[in-house]
Amino acid sequence: MMDLKAIRQLERTARALEPDLDERQRLFQDVAGYAEAFLQAIDDLPAFVDTRDQGIGLYDSPIQDEPRPMSKLLEHLGHDVDRPGLNPASGGHFGYIPGGGIYASALGDYLAAVTNRYAGVFVPGPGAVRMENLLIDWMRQLVGYPKESTAGNLTSGGSIANLMGIVAARDAIGLKGRDFERSVVYLSEHAHHSLGKALRIAGLGECIERFVGLDERHRMQPGSLARMVREDRAAGLLPFLIVASAGTTDTGAVDPLDALANVCEQEGLWFHVDAAYGGFFLLCDEGAKILRGLDRSQSLVMDPHKTLFVPYGSGAVLVRDRSSLLASHHYLPNYLQDTRHAQDELSPADLSPELSKHFRGLRLWMPLLLHGVAPFRAALEEKLLLARYFYEELRAKPGFEVGPYPDLSVVIFRYIPRHGDPNAFNQKLVHAIHQDGTVFLSSTLVNGQFTLRMAVCAFRTHLETVQQALKIIETLAKKLEST
Ligand SMILES: *Cc1c(COP(=O)(O)O)cnc(C)c1O
Repeated sequence: MMDLKAIRQLERTARALEPDLDERQRLFQDVAGYAEAFLQAIDDLPAFVDTRDQGIGLYDSPIQDEPRPMSKLLEHLGHDVDRPGLNPASGGHFGYIPGGGIYASALGDYLAAVTNRYAGVFVPGPGAVRMENLLIDWMRQLVGYPKESTAGNLTSGGSIANLMGIVAARDAIGLKGRDFERSVVYLSEHAHHSLGKALRIAGLGECIERFVGLDERHRMQPGSLARMVREDRAAGLLPFLIVASAGTTDTGAVDPLDALANVCEQEGLWFHVDAAYGGFFLLCDEGAKILRGLDRSQSLVMDPHKTLFVPYGSGAVLVRDRSSLLASHHYLPNYLQDTRHAQDELSPADLSPELSKHFRGLRLWMPLLLHGVAPFRAALEEKLLLARYFYEELRAKPGFEVGPYPDLSVVIFRYIPRHGDPNAFNQKLVHAIHQDGTVFLSSTLVNGQFTLRMAVCAFRTHLETVQQALKIIETLAKKLEST
């Protein structure tokens, strides 16, 4: 006889996983209280905090059998996670490519988690899958890909989206192992490192990577590309893929997409555009002008967790001709046989390596419907104009040398001290900015020179924030120069 008492006993302990109404309300209040305190302080919180401990306090509470109070957890979160290092929620975050974190997305994530809707396959999760497909279709329209043939996927970020684009290219072209050593990929030396990584993961590490010549604004030169392709063909190689950037991470440069598309069409190459950072600037007229030609690519990537301001964990890939994406990813195991006849909608699981996945659609759908698109459009145009404002202001300040006029919202610059090595000086300058912490900027190497970057992309960045950054940068540069 089965011992039901033992089952009951286990149930009593297991039921801790289902707090009752009172307990839920208490927990929710604690968490909402934490979130509110964070949001109410956000304008005064530093963008970067260099702490000695770097969150090591987390190890004081190892995972154990016994419960701990929410207050203790929130204490850890506040002290060990949300204090040290970069604060990506800050409007003063101008480093790398800033991410988002809009509130309506947090609410969407909350509901996605509470209901735990399954968004991988249409039959079990028809609404969730339709929501994802609706979002992909909205992006498709924004880009201008054809409705009939396009497919896409909401990914965890741009790196995975780039990987999927590369795999789609590989499979569409039908590259086989014996071809790899002769196959050529063309990219810019400013292409995001996730692309090199994607090529390796996709088994294309043996392919030849060619860096196309850049113009003085760090954009790929179509003439240089065409020449390289011709020479490579003449040498018996197999040019197959061009990776352009619509907004490089280093300098924000947008490659001349239209002209590159011409070369791709002439030469029959797959045209992949990494628009992880720049893609959503299509929403505003200025951005759409700069991104002209994006619709002529075969595949592209954009990151809602950058320029749609949603929290980390949201990228997207679109592929103009869905067949290779489907060919690589579709499947029908026995245990999913009941889903066989539902062809109303493509299932994300047939288009990506993921099966069970986070219901990513809700964190996008909720803010887009709740706010409408207009505030997103305005925020993006605002960022473009703020970057131009920063550029103009900094250029007028003695001692500063700015890079090219920004294509989108990244400005690169250096301070040229009256004496000494500019590289060492700018390294000290970025360090001083980090120590100050009010705003955060990062650096890169451009033509071998240590260069500072101002990436205006956080939704909490407004005119005052940029003016504050200008003041801090100038003050710290002068102070450094006088010491
Ligand atoms: C951020 C970025 C990536 C990588 O995207 P993740 O979402 O960080 O994985 C790729 N390309 C460009 C141009 C980027 O800005």
